[in-house]
Amino acid sequence: MRALPLALILSLAAAAAGAQPADLVLINGRVYTVDASRPWAEGLAITGDRIAAVGTTAEIRKRTGPTTRTIDLAGAFVSPGFNDAHVHMDATGALLAGVNLLDVHAEPLLVERIRGTASRLPKGSWIVRGDWGAYEQWGAGSAGAAAGAGTAAGPFTPDRRMIDAVSPDHPVFVSRFDRSMFLANSLALKLAGVTETTVAPPGGEIVKDASGRPTGVLKGAAAELVRKVIPPIGIDERLTQVRAVLREAREGGVTTMQDLSSAEQVLAYQELRRKGELTARINIRPQLYRAEDLATLGFSRGFGDDWLRLVGFKAWVDGIMGNSAALFFEPFFHNPRNRGSLRHVMFPEGQEGAAMTMTAKDHYTRFAPGNLERLIKVAARSGVPPHVHAIGDLGNRILLDVYERVQTEEGLLGKDHRWRVIHAQHVHPDDFARFGQLKLVAEVNPYHISDDMRWMEERIGNERARDAYAFRKLKDAGAVLIFGSDSPGTNAARYFLSPVYGLYAAVTRQTLKGEPREGWFPDQRLTIEEAFEAYTRGPAWASFEEDQKGTLTPGKLADLAVFDTDLVKVGKTSPADLLKAKVLYTIVGGKVVYEGRPAGR
Ligand SMILES: [Zn+2]
Repeated sequence: MRALPLALILSLAAAAAGAQPADLVLINGRVYTVDASRPWAEGLAITGDRIAAVGTTAEIRKRTGPTTRTIDLAGAFVSPGFNDAHVHMDATGALLAGVNLLDVHAEPLLVERIRGTASRLPKGSWIVRGDWGAYEQWGAGSAGAAAGAGTAAGPFTPDRRMIDAVSPDHPVFVSRFDRSMFLANSLALKLAGVTETTVAPPGGEIVKDASGRPTGVLKGAAAELVRKVIPPIGIDERLTQVRAVLREAREGGVTTMQDLSSAEQVLAYQELRRKGELTARINIRPQLYRAEDLATLGFSRGFGDDWLRLVGFKAWVDGIMGNSAALFFEPFFHNPRNRGSLRHVMFPEGQEGAAMTMTAKDHYTRFAPGNLERLIKVAARSGVPPHVHAIGDLGNRILLDVYERVQTEEGLLGKDHRWRVIHAQHVHPDDFARFGQLKLVAEVNPYHISDDMRWMEERIGNERARDAYAFRKLKDAGAVLIFGSDSPGTNAARYFLSPVYGLYAAVTRQTLKGEPREGWFPDQRLTIEEAFEAYTRGPAWASFEEDQKGTLTPGKLADLAVFDTDLVKVGKTSPADLLKAKVLYTIVGGKVVYEGRPAGR
């Protein structure tokens, strides 16, 4: 081997002595590293896209050179950039760039929002989704005491005539948040060819007025009449939507998003990356039914790079609570004939009926292996972890049973596989321990506590609610908890990605109004440090990226968030102040991608 050139030796020596100047240094801060070997520091130095040093202000000052940018934090709080483990980027972008009706359940606001959206979007473009009515039955911020109030008149039923005048040039096809009904304006009905004489398809309803004319409200299979004439969204529209999501991320201090979008969305991410506009890293999770194709193409765990990476395969066992489709052993209180339903990926195994006969003493593995199990095996062999949605206690039981059998058969029991249960929302008391035994990651959404306690006990009763969002029990059992916003969800009425809402919910288990005062099942609260862990180090680990990010440690990517408030301190003493905290800087790969202003300045 030839001797190293002198210049290289000198520069290596300078680097070793800490003399190499950094590109960016932050000093005089309260730096919370989430690194157990050094939890707190005063500053850090960044070279290129990496953290070069973490230390006292005096230590970090030594890293400055003539071209170094210095940010004096003046006591501001720094943490690793937030890693949102559960984002629907496509739906979030559609709401941000389109129309957001989550908090709408009366005519004036509906008209105002449609008018506003129509004035922003080019003539001819469709106004879709919206998701009206999410706060109609139970008001936002309510802890459930007033549940049922305001429903005497029945749900808000809109009519095309309310919005026709404000949307003459835009076809409108918006949905109620639970997809139980849709509203088309006259232009959309015309484009779809829906008239007085149109007959609704089986399982659908075209609502008509006294004179027999369609009101614009379509239910069930009738929605397809309009849906099928909506053109697929083009790349430019997609780019607009992703840009809107990236802006929300920057403004919230979010530096990684673990996405759940459809596959086409990846084209937009690549395009924005080529343009240098990607300001957050994105973890991609294609649907599990594609596992065979991807394995055939040679894709395995970790494919991609620090910006775009394949980290899992997404699937679903059951539905969601919002429309009472989460699968439970016992029926819902408000509908005793219903205990939820299974999602399509479970088929065509033909075991829907079988699963629906299970009691809390049963295990799904007494049935022959089905479709989900077959697909999880394919994923297991490719090394890409399954990330499977399970909400009800029976939904979770089925998934745990399937995971246990596949892990046993594939020799993965006790191994480092990082398989996930998405939501793990209602777990049967007998099943908590299995999260530890099967070494599972629980990908949970803390803000849903604040938002869902409005109606949770009314739907499933106090006894089952005890094991709802039971983060402490999951953690004690050995699950690795990771947090996501589940944006847009119903929370989009209030916020999209800002992680302070999730931190607040996890440490208080209260509504945004601070109810109930002692917290909803307060024994399940987490400490602020645990909540931080679940929003930074945990999700990085769960994506096999713990060497790259998740803590502020020299050598890792320089992804960080700076707030005007010490989130750890207020998380302990006055958690409501978490909600007032403002992001001052978001830094991704050493680049300042967002600069905010402190409150009141
Ligand atoms: Zn979700």
